[in-house]
Amino acid sequence: MTTSLSLLTPSGRLTLGNLLGALRPMAARLDDPGSRAYYGLSDLHAMTTPHDPALLRARTTEMATLLLAAGLERATLFRQSRVPAHAELAYLLECTTHTGELARMIQFKEKGRGVGSTRVSLYTYPVLMAADILLYRPAVVPVGDDQRQHVELTRDLALRFNTTYGEVFTVPEVATPAAGARVMDLADPTRKMSKSADAAGSVFLLDGPDVVRRKVARAVTDSDTGPDAVRADRAAKPGVTNLLEVLEACGGSASGIATYGALKAAVTDAVVAQLEPLQRRYAELAADPAYVTEVYDRGAETCRHVTEPVLAAARAAMGL
Ligand code: ATP
Ligand code: MG
Repeated sequence: MTTSLSLLTPSGRLTLGNLLGALRPMAARLDDPGSRAYYGLSDLHAMTTPHDPALLRARTTEMATLLLAAGLERATLFRQSRVPAHAELAYLLECTTHTGELARMIQFKEKGRGVGSTRVSLYTYPVLMAADILLYRPAVVPVGDDQRQHVELTRDLALRFNTTYGEVFTVPEVATPAAGARVMDLADPTRKMSKSADAAGSVFLLDGPDVVRRKVARAVTDSDTGPDAVRADRAAKPGVTNLLEVLEACGGSASGIATYGALKAAVTDAVVAQLEPLQRRYAELAADPAYVTEVYDRGAETCRHVTEPVLAAARAAMGL
């Protein structure tokens, strides 16, 4: 039995990038009969910068409902904050972590740059992430480049703990997943689409057809009007390349398309066709919030059972 673990932070509203790059692969992994999937909402990670409680609650609820609408109900779905082992193991691991190790983290340096003072949690969250991973004992953790350093830290902490206090943790391998869909921002195709970025260049999963049409219509292309203007060339034509990739990932085809106008119309149709069934299912689930809550409560219960032996072993090894 292999363990598949994915955590999504409710730091914003899920985008088309999250659907193609995360939710779809997460759904595909559920078809592997030898795999056990734990998919969590890492709400604790959404508080490392100043946050609004009501907004966090709303985003968490929306994301919880969207994961169900995206067909992930066969996984164990949970909210991280409802599984106290995450925060507790994070503290135990902090007692094995050096300040220099955290000061080196690129994400901390980037998000803390130019800011006189940050929340302590922005500094320590990689340790929480290590706890998130080690509690479920996955053999392999697939991560994108931006999280690689954090998983390396997870390995360092697990190895150090095992050497110092006894063999408690499975040290996970870091895997780089096959380059998946990487959707770029429509307004700035040199950076990736993000849920925490401003709305203009991100297509959100709950955007209606008119909003999708408007955003795609405004997508940055280029001034090439030649006969072969519609072609993929990431360096010279990042915007057009992105639209072509989105079109294909959404089941459309660019064959016979010669103008940017026609390309944008095709992209709009393909994206809307992907989002409509998801939004229909979302509306049904949103009308029954008690069901959504029950699914996540049940998942958290499962996670408390799964993680308890790991936490207990860590506590005991440390003399608690
Ligand atoms: P944030 O701005 O908060 O970092 P994000 O949209 O980058 O939000 P993450 O929480 O960093 O989302 O990542 C969640 C998952 O979505 C990860 O698996 C990540 O690889 C995937 N993902 C995020 N953005 C994209 C994108 N533009 N294209 C493809 N996959 C993406
Ligand atoms: Mg990100």
